[in-house]
Amino acid sequence: MNNQEYDVIVVGASNAGGMAAAAAAEKGAKVLVIDKMGSAGYLYRETIAAIHSKAQKKAGVEIDRNELVNFISTFNQGNVDQRLLNVWADNSSEMVDWLDDEVLQPHGAYIKATPDAHYETERNRAFPTGNEATAPDGKYWQMGYGNWVIAKAEELGAKFAWHTKLEELIVENGRVVGLVVKNMKSKKTSTFRARKGVILCTGGYGSNQALM
Ligand SMILES: Cc1cc2nc3c(=O)[nH]c(=O)nc-3n(C[C@H](O)[C@H](O)[C@H](O)COP(=O)(O)OP(=O)(O)OC[C@H]3O[C@@H](n4cnc5c(N)ncnc54)[C@H](O)[C@@H]3O)c2cc1C
Repeated sequence: MNNQEYDVIVVGASNAGGMAAAAAAEKGAKVLVIDKMGSAGYLYRETIAAIHSKAQKKAGVEIDRNELVNFISTFNQGNVDQRLLNVWADNSSEMVDWLDDEVLQPHGAYIKATPDAHYETERNRAFPTGNEATAPDGKYWQMGYGNWVIAKAEELGAKFAWHTKLEELIVENGRVVGLVVKNMKSKKTSTFRARKGVILCTGGYGSNQALM
C-alpha cells in the first residue's frame, strides 16, 4: 500500500473533511480520506451558520452580509483575518444548499431556518445565521446525518481509510506532496502521495501540538 497516489487526500472525515471530499470528488478528483478513528458520522453537527441559504430565503430570514462581517471583525477587535470571514459569508449558503438537496432531502430530512434569532443590546447583536439539519419527523435530532455525507462522498468516488492516522506530511520543494500514515490497529506505517493537494480537516490543527 506504499506510495498509492491520489489527486487529493483529506485528513479527517468529520464536518469539514466529508464536505471537502465530496466537493473534490464531485469535480472529478481521485480522493482519499483518512481518519484515525473508526467512524466520524456522529461528529457532524446540527446547526450550521450560513447567509442566504435557500431555507433561509424561504423562511424570510434577512441578514445584511456586510453588517455581519463588520460586526464579527469589530467584536474581535480586528484580530481576525477578514478574508476568511468573506469566504464564509460568500460560500456558506452553497454548502448548506448542497447538504439540503443532495444529502438530507433524499432521506426525508431537510434544512430548517427560522428568523427568530434577533437579539440586541448596547453591545451585542445576534444574526439568524442558523440552518438546522432537521429529522424527517420535523424534530431537532441528535443522531446526526454524518454517515449520509460519508456515503454520498463514497458514491461520488471518494475512498475512506479508517483507523489511519496522519503521522507526518511529506514536503518536497516547499510543497506538501503526501503523507506518512499509521494504521492504528496493525501499527504499520505507509505513505500516500497527493498530486494536487492535502486538505487538513483535523479540527483545530493550529493547537494540535502532536500534529504540528
Ligand atoms: C457537544 C458539541 C456540540 C456542537 N454543536 C455544534 C453545532 O450545532 N454547530 C456548529 O457549528 N458547531 C458545533 N460544535 C462545534 C463543532 O463540533 C466543531 O466546530 C466541528 O466538529 C469542527 O469540525 P471539523 O471537521 O473541523 O473537526 P472535527 O469534527 O473535530 O473532526 C476532526 C476529525 O479529524 C480526525 N483526526 C484528528 N487528528 C487526526 C490525525 N492525526 N490523523 C487522522 N485523523 C485525524 C478526528 O478523528 C476527527 O474525525 C459543537 C461541539 C460540541 C463539542
